Amino acid sequence: MKVIVVSGGVISGLGKGITTSSLGRLLKARGIAVTILKIDPYLNVDAGTMNPYQHGEVFVLDDGTEADLDLGNYERFLGQSVNGAHNLTTGKIYRAVIEKERRGDYLGNTVQIIPHVTGEIKRTIREVAQSSGAEVVLVEVGGTVGDIESMPFLEALRELSYEVGEGHMAFVHTTLVPFVGPVGEAKTKPTQHSVRELRAIGIRPTMIVARGPAPLSSDIKAKISLFCDVTPEAVISVPDQAIIYEVPLVLEAQGVGAYLCRLLELPDREPDYRAWKEFLATYRRESATVEVAVVGKYTDLRDAYLSHIEAFHHVQGRLGASVKLTWYDSEDLPRNPGAIARLKRSDAVLVPGGFGSRGIEGKIQSIQIAREQGLPFLGVCYGFQMAAVEFARNVLHLPAANTTEVDPHTPDPVVCLLEDQRAVSELGGTMRLGAQRVTVTPGSKVAQVYGKTELWERHRHRFEINPSYLKRFAEKGLTATAFSVDGRVEALELSGHPFFVGVQYHPEFLSRPEAPHPLYLELVRAALVRQEVRSPVPAPTPGA
Ligand code: GLN
Repeated sequence: MKVIVVSGGVISGLGKGITTSSLGRLLKARGIAVTILKIDPYLNVDAGTMNPYQHGEVFVLDDGTEADLDLGNYERFLGQSVNGAHNLTTGKIYRAVIEKERRGDYLGNTVQIIPHVTGEIKRTIREVAQSSGAEVVLVEVGGTVGDIESMPFLEALRELSYEVGEGHMAFVHTTLVPFVGPVGEAKTKPTQHSVRELRAIGIRPTMIVARGPAPLSSDIKAKISLFCDVTPEAVISVPDQAIIYEVPLVLEAQGVGAYLCRLLELPDREPDYRAWKEFLATYRRESATVEVAVVGKYTDLRDAYLSHIEAFHHVQGRLGASVKLTWYDSEDLPRNPGAIARLKRSDAVLVPGGFGSRGIEGKIQSIQIAREQGLPFLGVCYGFQMAAVEFARNVLHLPAANTTEVDPHTPDPVVCLLEDQRAVSELGGTMRLGAQRVTVTPGSKVAQVYGKTELWERHRHRFEINPSYLKRFAEKGLTATAFSVDGRVEALELSGHPFFVGVQYHPEFLSRPEAPHPLYLELVRAALVRQEVRSPVPAPTPGA
């Protein structure tokens, strides 16, 4: 078992997840099987109960785990899916330890953080290493070194490095090098302090990834090397990038891939970045610009919609057209005529998922605009459910139509709990989670977009389209064209509109740089077509 630990110092939010994902990519580019595991030292068992305002989006895995958003970065950078075992939290570890204690597994011993909690952490890491079949496991430790919460994890990793021995484990420490003062001098002191903190725990970093606004000079690198006892070639500068997918190449250019291979005694083959570089070259082309309006209630914190943002980056890397996202607060929209006017001028509309009643009228209004003005529209989960509500209200003339999530007594529950769900829901959790099979009607728009009729898509929702309204919807042009195995509605599409599709599932979780999701691709293609129709490129002058 070979392990690379990525810790963080000075402050959080340095892009440790991107660093970890990129390191994984360097090894994968050399044909080495890798996987990534995230440690979140908080006490929640998983991210499912967390407010997007605090931790950003909840990323859903195939197996239905509601995970930290960094797991999304891992999947996107590695182009491979992970399962719930790859997100370790203090809550999960303690739960396992307490269950064992109750069962009597500790044979009467006093149960302690060391060795029992640390033992459980090591056991889980070994298990992930084994079950994933990876040659190298990257372990990202959330939080900042020095936090009380992360202590047991760092201790466990220190013990693990002793157990696996030389040539099997590397510690990469990500820190901030701020540039201060009138001349923008790079300051290494915070890095020195955080490395000292790490060494006090018994961990000697083998590589330092210095984050900051600008590249580090060789003098500063030498200084960090000397003060932190890391060889100069292992002091790596990662300045802010225009797009995160540049980071693997920034690391590669400083010899990180070869260095890690040497350190971990792995064969260093010629890395293959052809597809990756092609993606970046197309991304930078920016041959046209389209503006996509995103209407949601968490627009103040972009991380709440991270996978959607990334999905549009992936489309840009395929189509070469720059995709600009403009954000509309769904709560504010109905009372903001300026915003409404601007929304009408955008090239496409995305209404992402959500919960609860706040801001739904703005979502409904933006969907009405998209439907009536022929603006390409994609509705995801709640956005899809709101498209059904909008259609019922404004086309079927059922003004009080709603989802029972918002109005339990609506006379027209076009979105509701299905009969078989009700009994269960009264007992608590009924969220439908994870990858499930979706069957698409042949010949439909959705089938055409995917080029196939059997899909696996990830879900995270509780309510469903009420099948008793489908006939009336279809009579007016809104047709259900995808279903789950047990007959739930998975997609609705509007005929006679350039692109108006809503899906119950979350396509954003499956988009990858090298494989953009077909629905996002098609939304942007439709936006480009619309733009051309509205402002045609002048025909070249003959003979010019
Ligand atoms: N609130 C809706 C439901 O529970 C949609 C959930 C979502 O958008 N993820 O069904």
